[in-house]
Amino acid sequence: TLARRLGIDTIRFRPVLKKEPKDLSTHALVRDPNKCVLCGDCVRFCEEVQSIGAIDFANRGPNSVVCPSFGKDLESSECVYCGQCARVCPTGALTPKSEVSLVWKALSDPKKKVIVAIAPAVRAAIGEAFGLVGENGTEAAGKIVTALRAMGFDKVFDISFSADMTIVEEANEFVERLGNGKSMPQFTSCCPAWVKFVEQYYPDMIENLSSCRSPQGMFGSIAKKIMPDILEVPKEDLVVVSIMPCTAKKFEARRSELSKDGLQDIDYVLTTQEFARMIEESGLRFAEIEASAFDMPMGFKTGGGVIFGNSGGVTEAVLRNVISKTNDSVDETEQFNFVRGEDGIREAKVNVGGKELKIAIVYGLKNARQIVRDIKADKSRYDFIEVMACPGGCIGGAGQPVYKDLSVR
Ligand code: SF4
Repeated sequence: TLARRLGIDTIRFRPVLKKEPKDLSTHALVRDPNKCVLCGDCVRFCEEVQSIGAIDFANRGPNSVVCPSFGKDLESSECVYCGQCARVCPTGALTPKSEVSLVWKALSDPKKKVIVAIAPAVRAAIGEAFGLVGENGTEAAGKIVTALRAMGFDKVFDISFSADMTIVEEANEFVERLGNGKSMPQFTSCCPAWVKFVEQYYPDMIENLSSCRSPQGMFGSIAKKIMPDILEVPKEDLVVVSIMPCTAKKFEARRSELSKDGLQDIDYVLTTQEFARMIEESGLRFAEIEASAFDMPMGFKTGGGVIFGNSGGVTEAVLRNVISKTNDSVDETEQFNFVRGEDGIREAKVNVGGKELKIAIVYGLKNARQIVRDIKADKSRYDFIEVMACPGGCIGGAGQPVYKDLSVR
């Protein structure tokens, strides 16, 4: 050919994959650069939707890599573990860190008693992994309980129980702050990605975060306190598992504040997707399973605990609780319509006990940053702000079966 006659031997190439080390995992996410095709979806989501920029491109041309922007690895970067990068990654170069094998190992250990609790957002989403997709989703809590018992869990509880506790505590704290005017506005603190965001970017506002543990945090501490006696097992042999829509909950469960006497309150966190994998590995036909009831004492709940899974749910539940303390008679439909909707920032004024409260409901951390900047610049004043990192709240968490619309408005 012409090229050969001219002595040019660089018109063809055979791609040789350069193997990168795989030691890039965190408590929540695993990064495998060997699968990365440099599409940049993760980089764009992290920067443009979450306003973090924990991952970025390095080098040009064939040496390009997607890598953490800060520090040597994701663990020491500013990653908040929301996992949305893994959710948009088309090749599996970023994935939630699986704890499935650790849970199977605990379940097969005769010395251990293994208990489990499911988050509000899991009961609606798990059906999507097994074709149970009604117009408004399918509530599958009863089937989940039966499946978990069949896998060998000793007790099956509902995180909505501790979500109710979070509501009551958070409402009490809000009433107290309204009375003394300290550290206002009150931010919700049940999203661990948002909590890490405040810690690293706005440490002067940590006091504004509600001091209440998240529903997972509350459940873990109660379970580790009461269940060893109920199950007659040494506390070292009690294994507490939670099933969440969320990758950041894996990070939260490892926080030193959520431990006692050297034991973490939550031992393992499974995402909804990991739980679906366990159902498949068990050979259970989920769609055909009969429903059964949660175990007591942490198996009952109110509707307030269940709506935690959706953006606006925490606000609605807390406001209902606060209003019930004032004996106000309210038109509930009118009062709480504003919490629903799909916009990333929703605001409203609510009358409680003759006082007008300004509320904001936010999802997406870029939206949260905007709200915080407005507060700092004295452009806005609020009394209560709910923040969730994921699109639409936990229902759009990175551990859920993939949802069609990943946008944040
Ligand atoms: Fe986890 Fe929910 Fe926060 Fe997403 S919004 S990071 S699912 S707690």
